[in-house]
Amino acid sequence: MAIAFNQDFKPVYRQVDELSPLIRRVVAENPNPFTFTGTGVYLVGRGSVAVIDPGPTLEDHLDAVLGALGPDETITHLLVTHTHTDHTAAVSKVVDRTGATTYGYGPHGPVPDDDPLDKVTFDEYFTAEEKVAIEKEWAETPDELKREGPDVDFVPDVAVADGAVIEGPGWTIEVVHTPGHTSNHVCFGLREEKVLFTGDHVMGWSTSVISPPDGDLFDYLNSLRKLLERDDERYWPTHGPAIDNPQEYVQSFLDHRLHRERQIIEALQAGPSTIKAIVPDMYADVDKRLWRAAANSVYSHLLALHRDGRVTADDEPSLTATWTLVD
Ligand SMILES: [Zn+2]
Repeated sequence: MAIAFNQDFKPVYRQVDELSPLIRRVVAENPNPFTFTGTGVYLVGRGSVAVIDPGPTLEDHLDAVLGALGPDETITHLLVTHTHTDHTAAVSKVVDRTGATTYGYGPHGPVPDDDPLDKVTFDEYFTAEEKVAIEKEWAETPDELKREGPDVDFVPDVAVADGAVIEGPGWTIEVVHTPGHTSNHVCFGLREEKVLFTGDHVMGWSTSVISPPDGDLFDYLNSLRKLLERDDERYWPTHGPAIDNPQEYVQSFLDHRLHRERQIIEALQAGPSTIKAIVPDMYADVDKRLWRAAANSVYSHLLALHRDGRVTADDEPSLTATWTLVD
């Protein structure tokens, strides 16, 4: 049942990691509770190089990405797994410096005017000292490093659908549409090495945050099942270490989500309840700063259960609704 997370990952920021004949990586120094140790930027191929998710706009990071290139190399392709700013903020800067063509599934989905995360707070669970420390840390953190904010500005030069193939000299990349974490999330399969760049769809260090309305758990589970049908030998996620037993690992994610669903149903068996009441119990072993994100995850489960007719909401389904189990 338990997911075999691997958090044994200590990147040397701005260093070029030679990972395989065709893959190099530079990790940006933007660690936070959502990015783990930071954004891992992959350079694929030699000579004519594809960069997957350029990361944040830290100048020394971008210098390191461009500095990874040999004298006869250029970045010709800029591939985007999905439109969260920790992945895409630097797109225009890299395009300015290289002239690369951008590839992605499409722009970000609709973003509500009000931030759903503001509707549920867990302030009463923090001590006064913790609150002061968190507020200080928050105030000192640049916006793009605070969380996985949507990047609504990115529009790919080339919109790539599921199954599309992007080629360069000596490398062949297949697009695998994996909606769920975001509606436009794609993974990139490098055929020459039988590996998959999984973005934030499947990560070794943690589960993915599924944040409605653009994040969709129903789609996410289908996108996990889609990976079970592939024969990738290794995953390279954006955050954290490689995953070497991919199908087994993905199955444990599916089992985990089913387990979460059962926990929510059990919580509702005691009577109608709210997300604010369910999260602290369900996520007791998780950093409290992540509870508001967890609230979105519980919400995504409830939306899926609601669609199945297994729960009802007192009014419209929302983060603040009271939910009742259907017998
Ligand atoms: Zn993301």
